[in-house]
Amino acid sequence: MISQSDDARSESDVGSHLVTVRDMISRACEAAGRDGSTAQLVAVSKTHDIARIRPALVAGQRVFGENRVQEAAGKWPALRTEYPRIVLHLIGPLQTNKVKQAIEIFDVIETIDREKLARAVARELERSERSMPVFIQVNTGEEPQKAGVFPANVDAFVTLCRGTLGLDVQGLMCIPPVDEEPALHFALLRKLAARNGLKGLSMGMSGDFETAITFGATHVRVGSAIFGDRPLKGS
Ligand SMILES: *Cc1c(COP(=O)(O)O)cnc(C)c1O
Repeated sequence: MISQSDDARSESDVGSHLVTVRDMISRACEAAGRDGSTAQLVAVSKTHDIARIRPALVAGQRVFGENRVQEAAGKWPALRTEYPRIVLHLIGPLQTNKVKQAIEIFDVIETIDREKLARAVARELERSERSMPVFIQVNTGEEPQKAGVFPANVDAFVTLCRGTLGLDVQGLMCIPPVDEEPALHFALLRKLAARNGLKGLSMGMSGDFETAITFGATHVRVGSAIFGDRPLKGS
């Protein structure tokens, strides 16, 4: 009984948090002189179960982010049968042996971060006669433990992906180092995208999505500000 009422309360929180985040996005867009709908909210539902995701769907949210192929495969096919027009972004690392499954489950891959993966995705899309928007992940902080193309290699990698491999590259994505001023990384990502003629900028999370919008984010990936804390930190 107690856990049921807790669930009910936390689920209604998801709806109200979503309203708050959407409002903050609109204000940040307006403050930056942009139309309120020019930054798309990717609601990051990783680690949260279907019961917690549903209130976001009920509140009209349709664009979601997940970081694990297996986890997404367990949650989203069922939800897609209930709610139309769901757009699912993969925002976590992708192993080449999961490419086929990822392409079946996701609508957008944000984490193209190396040549081997880019080639595997291109091959699988061709084989399945599909096309899919992708983002290239940039390791703006050049952190050794983090995925992503280094800034110095972005131009050549974009050329490979767009040209040679024919991928539908929509833009760039980054996750700034936790201990640095994110604005510097957002500005760098914007510069790298602009000089490659790319319009999409996936940047900004719960703590810094308003700043990211100031720097031109077209997609903000917001998890904990909507769904609350995740069971395991960093997962
Ligand atoms: C988890 C995650 C997010 C969301 O982070 P929050 O701080 O919970 O908003 C955004 N982007 C990526 C790549 C993530 O893994």
